[in-house]
Amino acid sequence: LPQIKAQTASEYVPDTKFYKVEAILRPWRIPKVSAALLKMGIRGVTVSDVRGFGAQGGSAERHAGSEFSEDKFVAKVKIEIVVSKDQVDPIIDLIIEEAKTGEIGDGKIFVLPVSDIIRVRTGERGEEAERMSGGRHDMSNQN
Ligand code: ATP
Ligand code: GLN
Repeated sequence: LPQIKAQTASEYVPDTKFYKVEAILRPWRIPKVSAALLKMGIRGVTVSDVRGFGAQGGSAERHAGSEFSEDKFVAKVKIEIVVSKDQVDPIIDLIIEEAKTGEIGDGKIFVLPVSDIIRVRTGERGEEAERMSGGRHDMSNQN
């Protein structure tokens, strides 16, 4: 099986403790992606229905061999996951593995630095707020 490895992001991204991995994906691939995230111990995820355009067109207007769409947006799902630094690359690899078809329109992943996390219920901040019960942190503590 070919290993799909994303290039390391660290050299392009400001160094911080937490990052948001934001992926715009094909809606019908979301069940596969979320099942795999759950399996790796990711418990905090936000999903939204969005519409957009990239290289994949809705209405086809051609410029220099590429299709661009100006008036028809394609339905996508945006998945947002805030995690600690060491979880960023495994999540990127997982998303590629579960969401890639190889066709135009597979989507894109953005990595953003996150300054702080606050859990509303308790007022916890930083690492304590980032940890989710049943998450990877819990999993590794049980060994
Ligand atoms: P509590 O222990 O108080 O329940 P929690 O950390 O489990 O806190 P929730 O209050 O259950 O968080 O989360 C509310 C919503 O926030 C979730 O439904 C999800 O949309 C979003 N969310 C929580 N954590 C994350 C995260 N790490 N990344 C992305 N979205 C998150
Ligand atoms: N890093 C957290 C943990 O290991 C999980 C974060 C998340 O689910 N988004 O508990």
